[in-house]
Amino acid sequence: MELPLREELRGIEPYGAPQLDVPVALNVNENPYPPSEAVVADVAAAVADATRTLNRYPDREATALREALAGYLGHGVTARQVWAANGSNEVMLQLLQAFGGPGRTAVSFAPTYSMYPEYARDAMTGWVVGHRAEDFSLDVEHAVTVVKEHRPSVVLLPSPNNPTGTALPLDTVASVCAAAAEVGGVVVIDEAYGEFRREGTPSALELLPTTPNLAVSRTMSKAFALAGARLGYLAASAEIVDALRVVRLPYHLSAVTQAVALAALRHTGELLGRVDDLRAERDRTVEWLRGRGHEVADSDANFALFGRFPDRHAVWQGLLDRGVLIRETGPDGWLRVSIGTPDEMAAFKAALVEVVG
Ligand code: PMP
Repeated sequence: MELPLREELRGIEPYGAPQLDVPVALNVNENPYPPSEAVVADVAAAVADATRTLNRYPDREATALREALAGYLGHGVTARQVWAANGSNEVMLQLLQAFGGPGRTAVSFAPTYSMYPEYARDAMTGWVVGHRAEDFSLDVEHAVTVVKEHRPSVVLLPSPNNPTGTALPLDTVASVCAAAAEVGGVVVIDEAYGEFRREGTPSALELLPTTPNLAVSRTMSKAFALAGARLGYLAASAEIVDALRVVRLPYHLSAVTQAVALAALRHTGELLGRVDDLRAERDRTVEWLRGRGHEVADSDANFALFGRFPDRHAVWQGLLDRGVLIRETGPDGWLRVSIGTPDEMAAFKAALVEVVG
């Protein structure tokens, strides 16, 4: 029998980068530094503690965790204004479930994160995509025009953007929020890579107190080096958070996840300790690539988009043949490399020189 699959899901492959066992994995923007033994011990003890009450459902409201996350974010954000879920992917899907839906539209600007259209599809929300400028910046006039024309209930804007690394100036965010407010929409600034911003690039958190239709999404997957724990979160008005509480599944965030994230937050200093190293390594990588004659997008994230190659797949494959896995993503001709340890970046550079000469 033919399954009654939704029409728009027919023939679709599940999203995801290849998970290959390679010596140098620089393909999904992970933090290359694993936790120290001290962090391992504290997290393990917290998990053991949580295990003692695993016969009970977890705290549905994740109160202690949201308080700790609010403390980390600062900017006057309170626990009532924070929401947490299994990765920021889930947070953003919940945003679409609450604010999207049939007859409604979500908007973003390409090239951008390839999961956004999937959130829209899964929440049965229309999808409209504007474009970024040649240098991957966002033209405010274009963005405002798209918002006014399509009247989205949700605008998804990453800052820094994936896969280009481009951060948004605050006045751009403010203008898009003002345009979205006129058509009754919320704006999600996805700061998954926020901690890697270059000096002087502000966070959209600064606009929260004055912008009721703004939500700022964050994750522990990148700077916190905790991708395996699956903990994403958001800061927004208490009204936006209350809407997410309506659509979340009961007990969506396991007691184990909450315990792991809380324990990790007790080690914020150490876990974020490598962010400055990674930012410096990123800047060195960008300079090195430019020095070799490649085009490289300015990056405020822990990756760099570089090109352009007439046959990018051949370059990607050549690197993989040498044990270095990067990502074939972004506009035609470009490739994205995540920033790893100095040794990993040396392996990447040596392989790239071999492949492209
Ligand atoms: N937003 C952006 C822009 C991303 O690149 C990613 C991960 N690649 C995410 C959100 C989701 O991250 P997570 O679900 O691990 O929080």
